[in-house]
Amino acid sequence: MAGSYNTLKFLYIYLGSKARGFYRGFYGGFYGGQQMKKYVCKLCGWVYDPALGDPDNNVPAGTPFEKIPDDWVCPVCGAEKEEFEAEN
Ligand SMILES: [Zn+2]
Repeated sequence: MAGSYNTLKFLYIYLGSKARGFYRGFYGGFYGGQQMKKYVCKLCGWVYDPALGDPDNNVPAGTPFEKIPDDWVCPVCGAEKEEFEAEN
């Protein structure tokens, strides 16, 4: 009996952690996507998508526009952050 109890307990913890990870991913994607706006370069029209980031310029995927370093510039035309506006 002790053995099966431990197996159940293991399954419970295992599945529980799976479910938590799933919900985190689900809500993170859903609400995160809602909260993290895309920003458009006013000069060239390039769109910054927080879900993608700008890995070529040290901005990992999932970085909100507000968290991008101030010295970051548009990868297409070199415009500064001030030249970007939130996409509606
Ligand atoms: Zn640009």
